[in-house]
Amino acid sequence: MAKIGINLKEGSVVKESDIIVGIDLGTTNSLVAYIKDGEAIAVKDTNGKNTLVPSIVHFDAQKKHLVGEEAREKLVADPQNTIYSVKRLMGKSYNDVQNVEHYFGYEIIDEDEDKLVKVRVEDKFYTPIELSSYILDYLKKRIEGVLKANIRKAVITVPAYFNDAQRQATRDAGKLAGLDVLRIVNEPTAASLAYGIGLSEDESKTIAVYDLGGGTFDISILQIDNGIFEVLSTNGDTFLGGDDFDRAIMDHWIKIHEIDPKRLQQEKDFSQKLRLAAELSKKKLSSDVNFSINIDGLELSLNKSTFEELIRPLITRTITACKSAIRDAELEVDEIDNIIMVGGSTRVPLVKELVAEFFGKAVDDKLNPDEVVALGAAIQADVLAGNNKNLLLIDITPLSLGIETVGGLMDSIIPRNSKVPHRAGRQYTTSIDGQSNMKIAVYQGERDLVEHNRKLGEFILKGIPPMPMGLPKIEIQFILDADGILKVKAKELRSGVEQTVEMRSQYGLSEEEMGQMLLDSIMNAQSDMATRALLEARNEANNIVRSAEKFIQQNEAILSESEIETTKNLTNALKETVKGEDKDLINKAMADLNEFTSPLAHRAMDVNIKEAMAGKKV
Ligand code: AMP
Repeated sequence: MAKIGINLKEGSVVKESDIIVGIDLGTTNSLVAYIKDGEAIAVKDTNGKNTLVPSIVHFDAQKKHLVGEEAREKLVADPQNTIYSVKRLMGKSYNDVQNVEHYFGYEIIDEDEDKLVKVRVEDKFYTPIELSSYILDYLKKRIEGVLKANIRKAVITVPAYFNDAQRQATRDAGKLAGLDVLRIVNEPTAASLAYGIGLSEDESKTIAVYDLGGGTFDISILQIDNGIFEVLSTNGDTFLGGDDFDRAIMDHWIKIHEIDPKRLQQEKDFSQKLRLAAELSKKKLSSDVNFSINIDGLELSLNKSTFEELIRPLITRTITACKSAIRDAELEVDEIDNIIMVGGSTRVPLVKELVAEFFGKAVDDKLNPDEVVALGAAIQADVLAGNNKNLLLIDITPLSLGIETVGGLMDSIIPRNSKVPHRAGRQYTTSIDGQSNMKIAVYQGERDLVEHNRKLGEFILKGIPPMPMGLPKIEIQFILDADGILKVKAKELRSGVEQTVEMRSQYGLSEEEMGQMLLDSIMNAQSDMATRALLEARNEANNIVRSAEKFIQQNEAILSESEIETTKNLTNALKETVKGEDKDLINKAMADLNEFTSPLAHRAMDVNIKEAMAGKKV
């Protein structure tokens, strides 16, 4: 059903479409798809030719921006004002991208207090979110042109390893483009949906999604069970793709024709022609066995077997990553049911051959590898629109989420690999009498100490009514939505004081860092356990010290002088052990103090009860 909207500025009537579109916001290319008559189709340009929109934004002299093919044409002539690969910057801090800065032909800066990078174009600064929103807006207009109606709702895909910050940034870019982003979906999940895998209710499969694009390689291993998509592992290389194939061909020609490297530096035009010829030869050799071209009088040729020898080492690197991914998923190669090919570079026959050889079965390559992710996003959108009611599609969170408790310990609330959406909570209390504020610091990671994990943010629950320590009941709820975005709710249950915050990470985490964090947690499990035991002993000891001091204060009247003195001595001894590193000494001192004060506490209780009874007139 279509709604009718009114454009107030122009006074015209505009149709509002109920269609939810699927968008693949890629590093090199982006595209938009939707379901027409029950079938997913990618939207073409006005010439009816290309579905791919280069993910490039160019700013002209008037600071007006161009997107897509038009922007790509400016890449060589005006690199400073032409922004490509902005996806690599989403949700990232300057620190994250510093060592790959040379890769970008434009200027990346870090001046912002929230530490997210910005891109500088002359005297203006743009966030990766803004730049991505221009690409999304372009796609939105493209499909609006075809459907002759306004589009408001979308599903956008992201790599499986994208963290909270990167997902949030993608969602914000959608918002900025005027889209209500109903769901952020993992690219491999979308790809498998495009192949119809995971669409039937009682299906159970393990699949590999092999995604080799222009500049990046990702391999994801997914377990699909009753509409639940679990990412078992991801691996890849953020700087490996079809561009490297082109470079290998160029280097080959430079070598055999003895082309002077200085000429390439000085004659940008010539070097660009050479690069385009290399790409053309690569594409042609996907179906032909010979290729030749004349560039500025230079006769260049390449045959299929030479081409394959040039790129074989690059493909071998992807196979090594596949091996790691399978190992991380704790599987054997023959347990993989399907291998789905994604990305333009999987059109190269040798890629398919070597991948099929490694997995020991034929790969799924029937769909256009450039379009599968967008097509799958459109299918997911259709499910969300309620057109496939039996299906619930769920992804999984890659790292544990928790809060800092006393002593810097990580208390995990939603464990890693939980299905999203997910809601979990736990009760905490205060550690000081009359405590009215409580800091809630939220972390992501697998280590026992928060200092080794990544902080997502913190907030303070204010206005807890004064109560003795231990009495307030503070419930912390983690609500992880279907996009992997976290909301944290803190509520003091006795008074109803409550606060909710959406966690916005300060900066992103790269795939490598995430892998490293998991690795660290395994490597350090033993030392972490020891540290955790020490910190827990210290926390408990501090609580006991506070209770003992309070006990003496409140019960002075019924205790003898020597009892008070021994209690004080034992308390001081315990305080001393807390300063040390030996948890056994702390535990021993706690036991000593407990043993001595326990009969005193009983006596005090009896006296208190007697007094209470005496005061009562029966
Ligand atoms: P993507 O990032 O998925 O859009 O992939 C683009 C990459 O696929 C570029 O490196 C293209 O040169 C490459 N590509 C596109 N078509 C072909 C083809 N027919 N044969 C080989 N590579 C191709």
